[in-house]
Amino acid sequence: MDFSFTEEQELFRQAVREWCEKNLSLEKVREMDEKEEMPMDVVKGMADLGLLLMTVPEEHGGTGSDWVTACIAAEELAYADISIAVPVFFLVEASWGYIVDRYCSEEVREKYIKKAIKGEAFVGIATTEPGGGSDIASVKTTAKKEGDEWVINGEKIYISGTEEAKKMGGGYFIIARTDPKLGHRGMTAFFLPIDAPGVEITKRYDDMGRMGISTGGFVMNDVRLSDDYVLGEVNKGFYYTMEGFDLARLLIGATSVGATQRALEIGMDYTKQRILFGRPLAKFEGIQFEMADLWARNEALRALVYRAAWMVNEKYSTGRFDPLEVSKFISAVKLLGPPLAFRTFEKAMIWLGAYGYTKECPLEMGLRGIMSYCVGAEGGLNIQRIIIARELLGREYVPYK
Ligand SMILES: Cc1cc2nc3c(=O)[nH]c(=O)nc-3n(C[C@H](O)[C@H](O)[C@H](O)COP(=O)(O)OP(=O)(O)OC[C@H]3O[C@@H](n4cnc5c(N)ncnc54)[C@H](O)[C@@H]3O)c2cc1C
Repeated sequence: MDFSFTEEQELFRQAVREWCEKNLSLEKVREMDEKEEMPMDVVKGMADLGLLLMTVPEEHGGTGSDWVTACIAAEELAYADISIAVPVFFLVEASWGYIVDRYCSEEVREKYIKKAIKGEAFVGIATTEPGGGSDIASVKTTAKKEGDEWVINGEKIYISGTEEAKKMGGGYFIIARTDPKLGHRGMTAFFLPIDAPGVEITKRYDDMGRMGISTGGFVMNDVRLSDDYVLGEVNKGFYYTMEGFDLARLLIGATSVGATQRALEIGMDYTKQRILFGRPLAKFEGIQFEMADLWARNEALRALVYRAAWMVNEKYSTGRFDPLEVSKFISAVKLLGPPLAFRTFEKAMIWLGAYGYTKECPLEMGLRGIMSYCVGAEGGLNIQRIIIARELLGREYVPYK
């Protein structure tokens, strides 16, 4: 076994770190958090660095990056932007942009994917509905074929990037029920342009964190789309959705590693300087042991993330792993990552005392931001447990059947 990154990957990490040091300081992150706006110079900078939709193959305009490299980018972006707004923007596009590109028509690729790669459009995911987000098979949105067109009706809520999509153009991977009697086998994926007639953004949520990227909702009233906007095969949408979730969850794992690392470093730097009882606070075992535990857990998470990323590379390039086996590992990453980062922000805030509780200190942005991935974005923690248990015990033990 060889656990090292390639020289190219190390150089890539260094380039992303240097770009972040110049363009994504904690002061800039605080400004983004307060203005509640994704800075377009950051989007453009990521595009120039080749980070946007970096997993899309070169022949389609991307850089064709593998999933280990995409995890390196997610880790570095989260190390810089602990509020995780920029990492969210990055990872939604790297995962769902990849899925849209993998299954889309030339028209969608030309009009949306190629623009999103240049930072001139946003590509996101919209599956969650007012009836719930966890039970994807119960999606209520419908798509009915009328002549040459699909007529789509429904509502999607808690969707990342609605304001960015409105501002930049772009659209969403959505799923709709095309053959209701077939259950989850009767659902089709579409690319929904955000400016298609009949699409109306109805809400921007006042979230508790990751304020630099919006979360909103939209309705679809008799939205008419041609076959060019169907992704892949009709009635296969559920499976493409699961494929996309895996990729997004993997990158959330890498995001958690980067954010955890930064929270630890902020805590270590502060406690080395803070003199209490005549010595640096970092000299006390009560503090040191917590740091050692969190570091050890983060290294274990890091190993799991990159192992899962390697498995995804193998799945796509050699077909060596059963996709469900890969899902099991990725769900482990999503199950462990965000709670570890949350715990580390919480602990670091306590090490910093009252200062840690102020907005002069960046840590509270991290606590608020990473919570989004604990409560549910890209699938709640219990959903990850259900997936893991399904693979451990067998399908006959799935609780919802
Ligand atoms: C900031 C943010 C951004 C988001 N961005 C997007 C986006 O871009 N696109 C999108 O489609 N969605 C998005 N979501 C929605 C997210 O996907 C959902 O929150 C998630 O799928 C859970 O759905 P829900 O919130 O409706 O909770 P519910 O489905 O109502 O579940 C509630 C809780 O119960 C748990 N649970 C569910 N089923 C079971 C079970 N069988 N056993 C035990 N526990 C269970 C869940 O894990 C969750 O904790 C976002 C959410 C947030 C917070």
